[in-house]
Amino acid sequence: MELKEQLELIYHNAFENGYLSESKLTDNDRYIFYKFKEDIFYKVQVNHARSKYSDALLDQKGKKTALAKGAQCLICHENSQQKHNLETVNLTLKDHKYFIQLTPFPLYPKHFVVVDRAHQPMEVSPKRLSHLLSLLEQLPDYTVVSNSDRFNAGASILSHHHFQMIHKTDFPIFTAKERMHQSFENIQMSCLNFPIFALKLRTMEPERLTEMMGGLLDYWRGKDDENTFNIIARKNNGYFECYLIFRNPQFLTQPKELIYKSEGVGVIEVCGEGVFPTPTTRDLMGEIQKDGGEILHRIISSLNPIREDFADQFEEMISSLHLNMV
Ligand SMILES: [Zn+2]
Repeated sequence: MELKEQLELIYHNAFENGYLSESKLTDNDRYIFYKFKEDIFYKVQVNHARSKYSDALLDQKGKKTALAKGAQCLICHENSQQKHNLETVNLTLKDHKYFIQLTPFPLYPKHFVVVDRAHQPMEVSPKRLSHLLSLLEQLPDYTVVSNSDRFNAGASILSHHHFQMIHKTDFPIFTAKERMHQSFENIQMSCLNFPIFALKLRTMEPERLTEMMGGLLDYWRGKDDENTFNIIARKNNGYFECYLIFRNPQFLTQPKELIYKSEGVGVIEVCGEGVFPTPTTRDLMGEIQKDGGEILHRIISSLNPIREDFADQFEEMISSLHLNMV
């Protein structure tokens, strides 16, 4: 059976065996906010199901007894094998072994997690990007997203490499306009008009994409070893499109926004889709309903590690790429 069909099957089975339910998707409140300046529709969801899940994760933190025998963290393969209603699909991406499973509290339908078979630390690198692109070649209808490998900079579980995959989704960042553009041989790179510094790379050649990402990572990490990316990739009209969102742990949500969301801000949110936990009061819920787009925009802006001089930065990046590629 092809990978696509295997995924359809475990998705179907998950509803049959109670691992997923329609209410896990429909119980979330979803809102849309238009931002004229950027001409982008931002999205916000108040995710009640995930709020309960986060609480459950917190309870398990540090308690080794909650893990299956041989497992070193919550997403280790051994854990999924002992859950009777959680099915997994094994796959190999560029000679590297992974498995795919459904996330228990999805943000969207067909929301999967792709996990390294081995307990290897989270890694943002050209090698890992090549795995992600190889998956996209097999599943062109999916968008793949990766959290980062630095604490407090868009990371989730740092101890075990994984990324996420969502069927046919439209993140607000996909509609962001280009404010600067540069063409290289067989690859285009643009800097986006978005509240956090983000580059879009577009090419038909996945090898060029990983090479370019490697050059950009060297450049960015050369400035500070804590620098990293959140990554989004998809196939669009035959092209591979990769979004690199620049992250650094010194740039955090401002204290006044912590009442809406105190936990870290991950890759999906910096794509322009806020995921807020259930507010503690009715007033806070009202504020999110009314101003959720503004709140999300302020949060994403506060994470932006490159402020006024983005044009200079873009130029500097391009010249560093030229130097490396000559
Ligand atoms: Zn693990």
